[in-house]
Amino acid sequence: MRDYDIIIIGSGAGGSTVARTLADTGKQILILERGDFLPREKKNWDPDFIFTQRGYQIDESWYDHEKQEEFLPQAFYRVGGNTKVYGSVLMRMRAEDFSEQRWPEGISPAWPLDYSVFEPYYTRAEDWYCIHGQLGEDPTEPYHTAKKYPFEAMPHEPRIQLAADELEKQGLKPIHSTLSLNRDTAHPERRPCIRCSTCDPYPCMLHAKQDAETAGVRPALLHDNVELWTNAYVDRISSSDGRRIDVVHVEVEGKDYELRADTVVVSCGAVNSAALLMRSQIKDESGLLGRNLMKHNHSGLHAISHRPNPTVFQKTLGFHDYYFKGPKRHQDYGLGAVQLTGRAPWQRLKSFAQADMSDDHYQYIERHCIDWWLTTDDLPDPSNRVRITKDGRPALDFRPNNRLPHEELIETWISHLRKTGDYSFLIRTMGIDVLWHQAGTAVFGEDPSQSVLDLNCRMHGYDNLYVVDSSFMPGMGAVNLTLTIIANAMRVADHLRKEMGYTPSVNESIQVGTHIPLAGTVKGTGSPSYSYVDIP
Ligand SMILES: Cc1cc2nc3c(=O)[nH]c(=O)nc-3n(C[C@H](O)[C@H](O)[C@H](O)COP(=O)(O)OP(=O)(O)OC[C@H]3O[C@@H](n4cnc5c(N)ncnc54)[C@H](O)[C@@H]3O)c2cc1C
Ligand code: SF4
Repeated sequence: MRDYDIIIIGSGAGGSTVARTLADTGKQILILERGDFLPREKKNWDPDFIFTQRGYQIDESWYDHEKQEEFLPQAFYRVGGNTKVYGSVLMRMRAEDFSEQRWPEGISPAWPLDYSVFEPYYTRAEDWYCIHGQLGEDPTEPYHTAKKYPFEAMPHEPRIQLAADELEKQGLKPIHSTLSLNRDTAHPERRPCIRCSTCDPYPCMLHAKQDAETAGVRPALLHDNVELWTNAYVDRISSSDGRRIDVVHVEVEGKDYELRADTVVVSCGAVNSAALLMRSQIKDESGLLGRNLMKHNHSGLHAISHRPNPTVFQKTLGFHDYYFKGPKRHQDYGLGAVQLTGRAPWQRLKSFAQADMSDDHYQYIERHCIDWWLTTDDLPDPSNRVRITKDGRPALDFRPNNRLPHEELIETWISHLRKTGDYSFLIRTMGIDVLWHQAGTAVFGEDPSQSVLDLNCRMHGYDNLYVVDSSFMPGMGAVNLTLTIIANAMRVADHLRKEMGYTPSVNESIQVGTHIPLAGTVKGTGSPSYSYVDIP
């Protein structure tokens, strides 16, 4: 006997997208999320809480095999997953990222499908997530079938416009960040976003950030056939015949449930999906499950100038000049992407401490710096992998690679910034705890001996098991990855629609940017601010 048609494990970018895409089929769909709703409260925008007290982050430690010690990852088990605090820059991968790319230390392999397959889904994803941007200004941008983004680009504030102009004079090409915010720039009174300084990496108190809860879970729950259980931890899935998953084992506040579904979709994030499949002893002919973990080379670069920076919403500017090619002496390979982050409060800058400085000094820096974020591809390496501890938590082996182009990107960017008058820099290259852009642990492909998932992201050797987070990605380029997760999850959900006899396109009545109240069936034991139905 089955309880549901489809069970989706994890409510982040991947899982929520599948739920929303399948919601109008009338199939009985259950989303299982180990976390609770992230509460709306004043602390959402409190820098002390967010940066000093690890606000909303998990308190589960993971194991670092390299250092042989436990560490606390910067991760969020919430309805909406990590997108609840993400920086809202949603970008398409470049068309070239889908083909083989050569780097000094190795290659980023070709994907088995090219950009054209993902293009229509990127277009739909940009609607769902209310993307603001300006087409035509970024020479690396792949073709779009839509003539423009759903919303105009968020304009730069004066200090950022000045930085853009000064960098443009050096021959660089400033671009507007493509942002997923529910804002009407010409008529701000019409939409909820107030363009505040506490966006990246804070949750949005106004639910104006388009994230997996606001743009995925809530629209799905508008349908009576979709249900969400919160605080519902899936310990394992099991199969009696080795081909079909027949039972999903869930624990809710110490009570165990065994649920059955025709189709099981796993979307716990690339690390936790691999861990769940390993706990479940899912067979994998390729031996690649959990391997090839990638997480991007990231550095925060805070550039200090004598000129104050009074910007409120800073995250509007980026540069892709060095995406495919470095400056003159590094012409053989790209260096990566440069974008602004939200304003870094002094509490965050303190984590970059290069010298013993007073709080006053950090506050001076906060008022005078512009905050950049530099990203370079990392390369799939089978020895970078997820394993599990005895009690089933993730244990990672991870050695960073492709660091040379990343260091060259830092050096190159600093030399540009110096010419604009910036005189000092706080730099931090992120370590193993920053797994914001995790990917690659269950790559997709045609050959079961070389890939974990087939081209529709169904686990090779299984009839009804799918994985739709970033695990499927064979390489990741240097752009933020979430739009690609969403586009791919739509593609997989369209495949499921077809298999179930429905048309592949979503016939939705939700207008772009509609703010959707929480409705529908939510079961769990969580926050009293929502009306919960007890799980029987
Ligand atoms: C601070 C920060 C800033 C970021 N900024 C950006 C950005 O600007 N642009 C961008 O593109 N990306 C950004 N990202 C990355 C982005 O958040 C992720 O790419 C995205 O959330 C991944 O979606 P996902 O569905 O794969 O996984 P997740 O969002 O991690 O969702 C997985 C969900 O599964 C749940 N889960 C896990 N295990 C289980 C289990 N066993 N049982 C039940 N539920 C389970 C988790 O609680 C979680 O809710 C940022 C991330 C962070 C942390
Ligand atoms: S800038 Fe807009 S979307 Fe971001 S936190 Fe502020 S109100 Fe929310």
